[in-house]
Amino acid sequence: MRSLTRDLTGEVAVVTGASSGIGAATARALADEGMSVALAARRAERLESLAADVADGPGEALAVPTDVTDRAAVDALIEGTVDAFGDLDVFVNNAGVMLLQQVADADPDDWETMVDVNLSALMYASKAALPHLRGGGDLVQVSSVAGRTTSETAAGYNATKWGVNAFTDALRKEETENGVRTTVIEPGAVETELQEHIPDEEVKRRIEGWVESMDALRPEDIAAGVLYAVGQPRHVSVNELMIRPTDQP
Ligand code: NDP
Repeated sequence: MRSLTRDLTGEVAVVTGASSGIGAATARALADEGMSVALAARRAERLESLAADVADGPGEALAVPTDVTDRAAVDALIEGTVDAFGDLDVFVNNAGVMLLQQVADADPDDWETMVDVNLSALMYASKAALPHLRGGGDLVQVSSVAGRTTSETAAGYNATKWGVNAFTDALRKEETENGVRTTVIEPGAVETELQEHIPDEEVKRRIEGWVESMDALRPEDIAAGVLYAVGQPRHVSVNELMIRPTDQP
């Protein structure tokens, strides 16, 4: 009987937003499979600490402090990873911010930040990674249930995540003949630092209460979804995975 998963040992990954939450768990899960993983985010100490932890396991990790909205820094991240570990097999666009507000109350600067980090940076990093992924690589985009549905206070966030889904599906059509697999991951509520940055205190309290009202996902639950997708045999492309807590309506 043929094996259902590929052996990822020795493959090379980049994970953005690897300093906390879903990105840190995903980087660790990939390294636990024996991969070499570049860790990208702004908080350098967090990345160094994760890289040191990973060194005790079967894989390896390199901390590459990166602001994903800086295109030159993203180019340097990719070049540095290829120099250190060899050509890329997996690129995980995970960095994101969720600055929820009603449209009427919204600070347009917060919209701009979300568009810059969640959408424009993901688009640029996808383009920059493509030449390295052709011939057999995975582009994994961490979108959200908010990329398929809408809700009050999430208009700006919804716009960025719907953008991620649309961009990635069009890119899939362009690049599938080049052997690039694309996976959009759509998590529901996950216990991370994401809600801490919500600027409107009332909205923040409401969202925190909503997450606490259910048995929310852990970052490792989403990392398992990423592993499932990239671990499939090369003729299998898992294009979309929506993962909610069982008790999330
Ligand atoms: P966290 O806040 O824990 O992680 C966000 C990560 O993004 C951090 O590592 C942060 O690192 C990084 N980041 C933010 N801005 C930048 C930037 N300019 N450059 C580089 N890195 C940046 O939240 P999550 O783990 O929850 O979020 C990860 C992804 O999952 C996001 O895209 C989010 O939208 C998505 N998601 C989360 C859900 C949830 O319920 N938690 C649900 C659905 C989707 P640093 O600050 O060090 O730069």
